[in-house]
Amino acid sequence: MNIISGKELSARLREEMAAQIPSLEEKYGRKPNLTVILVGENPASQSYVRSKAKAAVAIGMTSSTVTLPEQTSEAELLELIAKLNEDDAVDGILVQLPLPKHIDEDKVIDAISYEKDVDGFHPMNVAALWLGQPCIVPCTPKGCIEMIESTGVGIAGKKAVVVGRSNIVGKPVAKLLLDKNATVTIAHSRTADLGAVTREADILVAAVGRPLMITGDMVKPGAVVIDVGINRLEDGRLVGDVDFESAAPVAGYISPVPGGVGPMTITMLMKNTIQCFETRMQNK
Ligand code: NDP
Repeated sequence: MNIISGKELSARLREEMAAQIPSLEEKYGRKPNLTVILVGENPASQSYVRSKAKAAVAIGMTSSTVTLPEQTSEAELLELIAKLNEDDAVDGILVQLPLPKHIDEDKVIDAISYEKDVDGFHPMNVAALWLGQPCIVPCTPKGCIEMIESTGVGIAGKKAVVVGRSNIVGKPVAKLLLDKNATVTIAHSRTADLGAVTREADILVAAVGRPLMITGDMVKPGAVVIDVGINRLEDGRLVGDVDFESAAPVAGYISPVPGGVGPMTITMLMKNTIQCFETRMQNK
């Protein structure tokens, strides 16, 4: 069994990006900028936002964080987004989810210019992804593919099973695997005999949100296993959707939690910000 360290892979990719920024600055006269909006005081969101801003600055981009109070109205948030859409110095806009209940997330995502949509959640980017057109690919799915490819195990012709069908992880990961010519199955809460399905997988991606749900007996020997889940147990431990202890001896390659998909998501956000910057600069 080999561990796919998202932390190490991220460090390498971030180094590459850091080396790229000075030449971008020279070419276009400024550094790429990521602007993150945080509404409210959800501690997990605060920590994610801090990590994103820190990563951007660490690789030499500029980063701004706009923190708004919990009671911010939907109209106020939409107004801020409209302003950032127009601001030429802003390349990527990320609104940290989840938003407070009184704000319609779909409306907010729709309001972000698709050219600055570094999360890849805007319907224009989602449509382009499914049509096979150039687009901004959502960060977590993009990170999963990089992790699978880092193993050297080819994706084409393999059986891939994605457990979970959310719009932000499961569905886009499945589409990206399909683009790489895997034969893809998407499993979900209504899948009958999940273990029988996952045991078929040469490549298994778990994006469920249920701690330690995928156990070793559900893994095909030698499979590449990517654990997207981030679950906080009552004792404070952070665990994935995969029971690493029982799955690791069976898998050929497996990503840990923490130190797996999490850091790769932020690394792909940096990539997407650079992509948005370059695309806008080239289209000027
Ligand atoms: P969602 O809750 O949106 O989706 C979960 C999916 O899992 C649903 O499609 C659901 O099926 C399916 N599911 C639930 N229970 C079962 C079950 N018993 N058997 C099979 N499938 C089941 O979650 P997300 O996709 O947003 O996130 C998934 C996990 O990934 C979470 O732990 C989240 O914290 C983590 N995450 C990690 C990121 C990272 O950077 N590492 C980024 C984003 C998410 P159905 O559709 O039928 O309800």
